Amino acid sequence: MTDGTGTTEAPASGGTGPAHRSTRGHGSERAARSTAESARLFARALELFPGGVNSPVRAFRSVGGEPLFIRYGEGAYVVDVDGNRYIDHVLSWGPLVLGHAHPAVVRALTDAASRGTSFGAPTVAEIELADEIRSRMIGLERIRMVNSGTEAVMSAIRLARAFTKRAGIVKFAGCYHGHADLMLVQAGSGVATLSLPDSPGVPPQTVSHTHVARYNDADSVESLFRAHPDDIAAVIVEPVAGNMGLVLPGDTFLQDLRRITSRHGALLIFDEVMTGFRVALGGAQAAYGVTPDLTTLGKVIGGGLPVGAFGGRQDIMDMIAPAGPVYQAGTLSGNPVAMHAGLATLRELARPGVQDSLERNAAALAEALRAAAGRHGVPLRAASVGSMFGFFFVDSPVTDWDGASASDRDRFAAFFHGMLDRGVYLAPSPFEAGFVSTAHGETEVAAFAAAAEDTIASLAD
Ligand code: PMP
Repeated sequence: MTDGTGTTEAPASGGTGPAHRSTRGHGSERAARSTAESARLFARALELFPGGVNSPVRAFRSVGGEPLFIRYGEGAYVVDVDGNRYIDHVLSWGPLVLGHAHPAVVRALTDAASRGTSFGAPTVAEIELADEIRSRMIGLERIRMVNSGTEAVMSAIRLARAFTKRAGIVKFAGCYHGHADLMLVQAGSGVATLSLPDSPGVPPQTVSHTHVARYNDADSVESLFRAHPDDIAAVIVEPVAGNMGLVLPGDTFLQDLRRITSRHGALLIFDEVMTGFRVALGGAQAAYGVTPDLTTLGKVIGGGLPVGAFGGRQDIMDMIAPAGPVYQAGTLSGNPVAMHAGLATLRELARPGVQDSLERNAAALAEALRAAAGRHGVPLRAASVGSMFGFFFVDSPVTDWDGASASDRDRFAAFFHGMLDRGVYLAPSPFEAGFVSTAHGETEVAAFAAAAEDTIASLAD
C-alpha cells in the first residue's frame, strides 16, 4: 500500500517456500573479502576506547563480528581500510542525504573553514540556515542551534517543563531521543541493541517523571494523563519511529497525540532528529499534517557535521535565555562550518524532483526486499517513507516496540553479514532505519536488489 506521504508497507507476498530457493551463488563465486586491516585497527581501538568505539552500535555487538574501519566515502559508497567497497545505507546514521563528500557541501565547508572555524559570535550563516529550515517547517517560529540531537531534546524538555510548570514527560517504548538521563527509559537504538532497559548511573528520581506509553496506542497516552492529572508537561515522539527499526505511525496516531496534548494543556514535541528533511522536506509534520509545539532536529541539517536544533512556537521559545529565563548555551552552537555544510545540503535537497527520486529509491529497496522474501518464503515486513526504509524478519505487521523486538534477530544478523559480503553496508542492528541519498541511483538499487535476492535465498531453509 502507498499513501500520499510516500509511505509503503506491505507483507512479503507470494511466499513460495523453500522449494523455490534460488540456486544462484551463495558466495562461492564472490571474491573473498579480507578485513585484516580493520581487525588490526579494532585491536588498537580496544586499547583506547571502551568497547573499541565512540558510540555503541558501531561495535557490531548485535550482529557479531567486528566493525569496519572506513578509509573514505564517495557518493553512495564507503571504502574500508582493506579496500572493500560497499553501497552505504547507513550514511552516518542519516545525515548524509546527498551521499559522501558531495561537491557542494565540501566546497561550502572548506570555504567556510578557510575564513575561520569558530567565533563564538553571530554569523550570517546561522540566519540563512534557520531561514531555510523555517521556510520548510512552518511550526518553527523561533529556532535555537545546538550541537547534537541529544542536546536538542534535553533543552526542549527543559523548556517544555518551564513553560507548562509541570514535570512529567511521556515518551514511547522503542523511541530513542538521545542519551540524556531522563530519556533513557525503554529507549530504542543502541539501548535496544544492547538490551539495556535503561542505564546504570541514572538515579531513579531522574526518571521518576518519565512515563512510557506504547507507540501507535493513543489510549495508553490517555491513561497516563488520567494517572498523572495536571503533571504532564509534554509528550515527545518520533513522528515516524526510526530507532526500533522503521515503524510508521498509524492513520490517526499523530492527530490523536495533538488532540490529547492540547486538551490537557501539555506540549507536543516531535523529535525529528532523524525524520526532519528525510520523511519529507517539511519533515514528518508536513507529511502527516500535524503541527507540534516544539520540534527537535539534527542529522541532515548539519550536512554531516555535528549540529542539532530545536524550535517551535514563539511564545514558548521566547522563554529561552537570553530572551527568557530558561538557560541553554553552547560554545560551538551555530558553528559556521557546520551551518554552511547544512545550508548547502538543504539547498541541494530542495531542488525540484530530488525528494521524489529519493522516495522512489527507498520504496524500490523495500519492494526488492519484499519480493525476494516472497520468492523464498522468508517472513519479512518492509516499509519506506521519504528517504528512509526498514524491514523486520517477522510474520505480522510491526506497529510498536513489542512487535519490533519479536522479530528474528538471528536472521537479521545472518542477513546483515550476507549483505556485507555482497557489498552492501547496512546498520549493524535490527533496530535501526536504512537511508538512501541522492547519490544512490538505479545502479545501486539494482545491486541492492541482487544482493538481497542472493542473501535471502541463502537464509531460506
Ligand atoms: N533523537 C532521535 C530521533 C535520534 O534518532 C537521535 C540519534 N539517532 C537522537 C535524538 C540523538 O541525536 P545525537 O546522536 O546527535 O545526540
